[in-house]
Amino acid sequence: MENTQKTFRSNSLTSQEFIELEEKWCAHNYRPIPVVLTEGKGVWVWDVEGKKYLDMMSAYSAVSHGHCNPKLLSALTEQANRLSMCSRAYYTDVLPLFLQKLCFLTNMDCALPMNTGAEAVETTIKAVRRWGYFVKKIPENKAEIIVMARNFHGRTTGIISFSSDTDYKHGFGPFLPGFKEIPFGDTKALEAAITPHTCAVLTEPVQGEAGVIVPPKGWLTEVSNICKKHNVLLIVDEVQSGFGRTGKMFACQHENVQPDGMILGKALGGGFFPVSALVGKDHLMRVFTPGSHGSTFGGNPLGAAVALRALELTEEEKLPERSAELGDYLMFQLKAIQSPCIQDVRGQGLWIGLDIKKEYASARLVCEKLKENGVLSKETHETVVRLAPPLVISREELDWGIGQIRKTIENL
Ligand SMILES: *Cc1c(COP(=O)(O)O)cnc(C)c1O
Repeated sequence: MENTQKTFRSNSLTSQEFIELEEKWCAHNYRPIPVVLTEGKGVWVWDVEGKKYLDMMSAYSAVSHGHCNPKLLSALTEQANRLSMCSRAYYTDVLPLFLQKLCFLTNMDCALPMNTGAEAVETTIKAVRRWGYFVKKIPENKAEIIVMARNFHGRTTGIISFSSDTDYKHGFGPFLPGFKEIPFGDTKALEAAITPHTCAVLTEPVQGEAGVIVPPKGWLTEVSNICKKHNVLLIVDEVQSGFGRTGKMFACQHENVQPDGMILGKALGGGFFPVSALVGKDHLMRVFTPGSHGSTFGGNPLGAAVALRALELTEEEKLPERSAELGDYLMFQLKAIQSPCIQDVRGQGLWIGLDIKKEYASARLVCEKLKENGVLSKETHETVVRLAPPLVISREELDWGIGQIRKTIENL
């Protein structure tokens, strides 16, 4: 049957009308904050009625470089005008430069480019299992990966198989075997969980989706030592924490830990393009052979050009240093808010979770009120409001946001 619905491309509709259209035509796998965005620049975004908001969510760190960053936009358009897509059936003059830069930055030997974070995690599961069989000589199909309770690594069927969140799993079984869950931050549990069949430990350095949970100091170092002792690979998922979010280029650098593999995504695409990668040491990465893994779009020239420029900008504009300095400032200012509604303020760099006491308000309600006051955030679970602005934010812009947050909390 012919679709008789009119399609709209301009701002001829109101926010409410766009929301109704999206609710009708888009699967309900998200529950968005009711705001309809049409433009972004730096740390600011505008809705279709022209109201301006400070983005304190940055698309879960994908927009760390700021919205429509002009330098990244020119890298994108330049490459788009030259060669945008060609599969890995051929070499290009941009992919190796991007991956070389990525390996220098992470102190790794080799990278496998993919598109989304979840794909890079899936890539990792394949890599560490193969390493387990080929190098560690684990008997076939016995490899185990140790993961953390309340982890978040993406939404594919493989990944949700080891999620501890029942919402992520409900109705999607049967699940992939071969994972063992231990509490986050507990080294004793880790020692106890390792068997001769353990090939890897997979962890976030800071648990983002769980509510910006920072592990005890020294924990990751201890994990790294335990892994070495038992010939187990350490894989750190830095998809959200990477590229300055926590105040270091990578969160594992807070502990000077060098993992065997690192999973990257989100900010790697500069807010323009999905670019992800598994980067690792040779002993892990050489398990890949032609045909053992692939992706039509992974490593495409357009994504590679933007990602290369995004890496350069992260260094040139000192985004990790900015994040450390402004993150400390934000933390100090939030802790200074005297309100009985606040249970806890925690985080690292410009990545802060504001835990709201249930009896006062849900995190969702706080996010909706923040939106009314011109600040965009998004709740995670029932109680946590996450604050993670683009790392290019200025002190003045941050001050404005802090003022609005204070006002919102004080009026709950
Ligand atoms: C977002 C995220 C992923 C998944 O990335 P997608 O691009 O959404 O597939 C994986 N790991 C962590 C830690 C993340 O925050």
